[in-house]
Amino acid sequence: METNDILTKIPPVSDRDITTVDLIPESESATLFEGLVLRVDSGLYIVHADPDKNNSPRRVVCSLRGNLRKNFTYSTSGSQPRRVMKAKRSHNMDVVAVGDRVRFTPIEPGSGIIEEVYPRDSHFSRSSFRGREQTLVTNLDQLVIVFACAEPNPDLWRLDRWLASAESSGLEPLIVANKRDRVDEATFAERFEAFRRIGYRVLETSAKADLGIDDLRTALQGRISAFTGPSGVGKSSLLNALQPGLKLATGEVGETTFKGKHTTTVRELIPLESGGWVADTPGLRQLDLLNMTRGDLLNCFIEFVPFLDTACRFRNCRHDNEPDCVLKEAVASGEISSRRYESFLQLATQTKD
Ligand code: GDP
Ligand code: ZN
Repeated sequence: METNDILTKIPPVSDRDITTVDLIPESESATLFEGLVLRVDSGLYIVHADPDKNNSPRRVVCSLRGNLRKNFTYSTSGSQPRRVMKAKRSHNMDVVAVGDRVRFTPIEPGSGIIEEVYPRDSHFSRSSFRGREQTLVTNLDQLVIVFACAEPNPDLWRLDRWLASAESSGLEPLIVANKRDRVDEATFAERFEAFRRIGYRVLETSAKADLGIDDLRTALQGRISAFTGPSGVGKSSLLNALQPGLKLATGEVGETTFKGKHTTTVRELIPLESGGWVADTPGLRQLDLLNMTRGDLLNCFIEFVPFLDTACRFRNCRHDNEPDCVLKEAVASGEISSRRYESFLQLATQTKD
């Protein structure tokens, strides 16, 4: 299982000192408010209400209007965000999930009832949680894939897999090469430069030497990002460097994680003071190869795509053992890295066709 152990190191919102729950003034209580769901816990939803006139953000604990546990039909009126028009009883437990934008009625200071959920741009689920899909987070913008330049050495095959995963989910990947202090220029280039060449952004950071932290902060502004990557690469250290108030526990390389210690209900967006949100998503589903075709997978290797417009000799070329294959020619001429091509072939053995 992929490690995404940030989750298990983050204390619940209530234990952290970055939270302020402000009161909703009596006079405003007749109107509906809008906000972002930060956390779901035991049937309650912690909503970050959009800033009011005084620009003060507020956290509100909401319950769900009973009729929301149903399937929705949305209105489609013009430029307005769509509204729920019709509802049918749903067996989906994740009517409202972390990352959802909602409208709620304030009922008393600091609490409210969620009335409407805006349609989702995207959602990430964990398959088969008690036989059902469990939505972990919605409306993610960016997948921050953290690897270490060394200690542990980056497993580039695994990085390819994460990149394909982001591409297949329509998430923008951002590669973070942390522990840059552990390698020289040449070693860094040897390990990561190829990813820049094909068009990915690679941030060079060191949580320890305070390198590239501002760039990372900027890259997270105004977006909902999920962090992922192997254990021990410095994900918690980076988040601490971004925002010292988080006080995440960091571990030694190779130390086993605290996976499984917390319950699956801990799902949360962490607000960054510099703007943006970090989604704390355990076990974000990996590349779902079983539900992908070879063609789908090809499109997840972004540097292959331009070559796919040119016809191989065989129209149904699998770009494997066939003669006169444009992809293989591009590999032979060095336009496509043979390592990435091998990565593709390896993953392609698991696709449904
Ligand atoms: P995580 O498992 O990905 O969350 O990794 P941690 O943040 O727990 O870090 C694992 C280990 O790497 C800790 O001992 C950190 O002190 C160390 N570490 C993190 N970032 C850096 C860095 O930029 N440079 C160096 N040299 N060590 C780092
Ligand atoms: Zn081909």
